[in-house]
Amino acid sequence: MSVFALVDGNNFYASCERVFRPDLTDKPIVVLSNNDGCVVAASAEAKALGFQMFGPYFEIAGLCRKHGVTVFSSNYALYGDMSRRMMAILAQHAPSQEVYSIDECFLDLAGVSDTDALARRMREDVWRRIGIPVSVGIGPSKTLAKLANHVSKRVEGWDDGVFDWSWLSPAETDALMARLPVGKVWGVGRRLAAKLIDEHIDTALKLKRADPRWLQRNFSVTLERTAAELNGASCLSLEDAAQPRQQIISSRSFGEKTADLAVLTAAVSHHIARAGEKLREQGSAARLVGVSVRTSPFGDDPYHGYTVVPLVHPSDDTMALAGAALAGLRAVYRRGLRYQKAGVVLMELSPRERRQADLFAAAPDPRRQRLMRTLDSINQTYGHGCVKLASEALTPNWEMRQDVRSPRYTTQLSELLLIR
Ligand SMILES: [Mg+2]
Repeated sequence: MSVFALVDGNNFYASCERVFRPDLTDKPIVVLSNNDGCVVAASAEAKALGFQMFGPYFEIAGLCRKHGVTVFSSNYALYGDMSRRMMAILAQHAPSQEVYSIDECFLDLAGVSDTDALARRMREDVWRRIGIPVSVGIGPSKTLAKLANHVSKRVEGWDDGVFDWSWLSPAETDALMARLPVGKVWGVGRRLAAKLIDEHIDTALKLKRADPRWLQRNFSVTLERTAAELNGASCLSLEDAAQPRQQIISSRSFGEKTADLAVLTAAVSHHIARAGEKLREQGSAARLVGVSVRTSPFGDDPYHGYTVVPLVHPSDDTMALAGAALAGLRAVYRRGLRYQKAGVVLMELSPRERRQADLFAAAPDPRRQRLMRTLDSINQTYGHGCVKLASEALTPNWEMRQDVRSPRYTTQLSELLLIR
């Protein structure tokens, strides 16, 4: 039987800032977007004070001062690096992992005898080694694991950081699902939730009990699958993302193992081109580019290199993404090892049209956008990879406004934490 865990960093950005500022334990924190435009993350204490995500900062600057809220510019170098560390620790606890977003991953726990003990061990391990609190949701499908994670954080009586559906009887499961709004189900966004509520499907339980054929006819195969997953059938394996995607993965094993950096470069360029195409197809821009390379886990030199490279501005431009991915590849590449698999993951996706107007950056170059559209249409017409990148475009490196960014403690030697 399938068993999945979804592990999620609690208030991740705020928690990352706190690791290096223990004086801020239990204090309200907010983190601002690019150019300090709006709030993108808030600690539990700030949320309790009513600070809303995505509100413009200038409207609340006074309130922050009044309530003693500590304000940070976003420090993606720090968050990306803390994410990489968190994922590496979690990967040690399970045979396979899918990094789902900067602070979430799925783990395959099939065959683990005591999942509850494992969940608590993972929490403790991450907390002890990097100081990030995480929550763990466990269930027989990815959709149930994701919902269990929500329960482990937000549902009174069950909110102590680990929740496993197998603790409940079928009747108890249904009673709890009846309390969960349908919009909390993975893949049910705000618009879909509104349509479902119009059809009187307003809770997770009602979606679970809906007629599958009716769901497929009136909504989509995807939603039918979501309902099946709520019933405990596992339809999505690791790396099959449900819509809407919060990350885009492209990776593949090599036909033959290779130690050659040029081969890895070509593979990563290929994957970034595919991922960039998917990104544009769904109208998103990415903020972080993850790169992973691995040798065989059963060989003499098991090695899994993974790193996350932040882009200065969210982008859907394959050349900008490739610049970041290849920089990441050079960071994780170890000479002399024979690699079996390489891949990329695009994370922190945002809708392209909602991208914040940025006073300090050049507007996206319309010629580059036209070039990307042309690239996509040629490749769609004549087959993928028909037109390829020559490679190695540099990520534009405009300075942006970050008045209150914390030091890049973990990635810049000059910004290490000093103990006096
Ligand atoms: Mg989180």
